[in-house]
Amino acid sequence: MRIAIIGAGPAGLYLGAALARRGHAVTAVDRDPGPHDGARWERRGVMQFHHAHAFRPTVGDALQREVPEAMERWLGLGAEPVRGGPPGAPETLQGHRSLRETFERALRAAACETPGFELRRGHVDAVIERDGRAAGVVVDGASHEADLVVDASGRSGRVTRELGPRREVGGPCGMAYVDRVYRLRPGAEPGPMVSPMAWQGDFDGYLALVFRHEHGMFSVVIARGLADAGLRDLRVNAAFDAAMASIPGLDTWTDPTRADPVTDVLAGGPLLNVYRSQCTEDGELVLPGLVFVGDSVATTTPVFGRGITTTLWQCEALISLLDHDTTDLAGVTLAYDAWAEDVMRPWVEDHILMDGDRVARWAGRDVDLDAPLPSDLILRAAEQRPEIMASAGGYLAMAALPASLREAEPIARELYAGGWRPAYSPGPSRVELAGTVAEALSSTGSRPG
Ligand SMILES: Cc1cc2nc3c(=O)[nH]c(=O)nc-3n(C[C@H](O)[C@H](O)[C@H](O)COP(=O)(O)OP(=O)(O)OC[C@H]3O[C@@H](n4cnc5c(N)ncnc54)[C@H](O)[C@@H]3O)c2cc1C
Repeated sequence: MRIAIIGAGPAGLYLGAALARRGHAVTAVDRDPGPHDGARWERRGVMQFHHAHAFRPTVGDALQREVPEAMERWLGLGAEPVRGGPPGAPETLQGHRSLRETFERALRAAACETPGFELRRGHVDAVIERDGRAAGVVVDGASHEADLVVDASGRSGRVTRELGPRREVGGPCGMAYVDRVYRLRPGAEPGPMVSPMAWQGDFDGYLALVFRHEHGMFSVVIARGLADAGLRDLRVNAAFDAAMASIPGLDTWTDPTRADPVTDVLAGGPLLNVYRSQCTEDGELVLPGLVFVGDSVATTTPVFGRGITTTLWQCEALISLLDHDTTDLAGVTLAYDAWAEDVMRPWVEDHILMDGDRVARWAGRDVDLDAPLPSDLILRAAEQRPEIMASAGGYLAMAALPASLREAEPIARELYAGGWRPAYSPGPSRVELAGTVAEALSSTGSRPG
């Protein structure tokens, strides 16, 4: 079968390589020129490319299953497997320390070496429609015929939007964030961690995270309410530096005697939680012969580092359906849509509830006992009621859907109804942090760009 893929991010590369390995003729088209040896890969089409990424073990597992050469290359480029686990239990793989750039370089190189996979540089202008079905793509004005068209153009892809609105839930979640990449100096020990992969602090009005990458590099992320103007200027280096020095935990990680910044502060846009079906509101396929995968189906905020996992799992689900049937592509797409409704949508809905509620609490609202408890509050309740963790393992590892954590909701609800609230991590509140930011700007004469 001739397959045209719009976009060569994680979805387009992984799916394209796996389908080419099965003998299909795959062309992936991406507007990005690709990396140049040695130089930083700018990758302007993917705004989160240089932002903090954590790689769950599910990502390496999916690579091993479908594109094992990418796994080999990823390790060769420096990805560091992290092993660990609860005290007394056998150690298991917890994930990989890596920059997103390192991951994508490996996947791209492995895909491009796969016989039957072609990566073309170009802009997909439109999907060709013939006899009521997708028949290829228009690339920079020229037609490219295909039996199946895959839209892997990411969360902001626009090219297929003119075909009509898809059924969707979610949108911007009211959170924004900044982050910055650092590197530990030779001999410097890492700062505090709450898990083998990350450190997290839940402060009064904001969230701070540290994700470790390869070769001593790490990203510090601060997520805040989008409407919180007082923290907006954290995007200025001097303000971010002052914030780092004032937040316990981050002060250790970013101590200038132990770590050096590798980038300026990277300002991210508003964060999204969106699920989009293959179908329009009235349940019809957008266009038979056209399938959506990756972030163009399910986008979640980076708070739990789930995006690449949900992306690769979608590709695997589609591959498995195509392994059984390449004649009834509309039927395959409907079956894939039904799978995504059952397995992808719950993760997005989990984030919609959790991130939206967190933003409301940052702005001063109490725990809402009239609504379902968000997953983060159920997990925090385990500090008082450890039996909650019996329902949490599958959810945390993404081995069970978010509904599995709901079993523990009554226990958590009882605790919150009794007045208990999780303590904030020790450190400045958002109002105090905003004061630090304002002071740093005025004392250094820095102005937001
Ligand atoms: C701030 C942030 C942090 C994140 N952190 C994590 C994390 O810690 N862990 C994790 O697992 N996930 C994380 N994610 C999610 C992860 O980045 C995405 O799930 C992943 O990028 C999805 O891959 P994709 O291939 O679907 O889309 P993308 O990576 O967006 O790739 C889409 C590609 O399509 C191309 N394209 C679009 N339109 C066209 C066109 N018309 N013609 C040609 N090419 C086109 C683009 O150039 C791009 O190369 C994060 C996301 C964000 C926003």
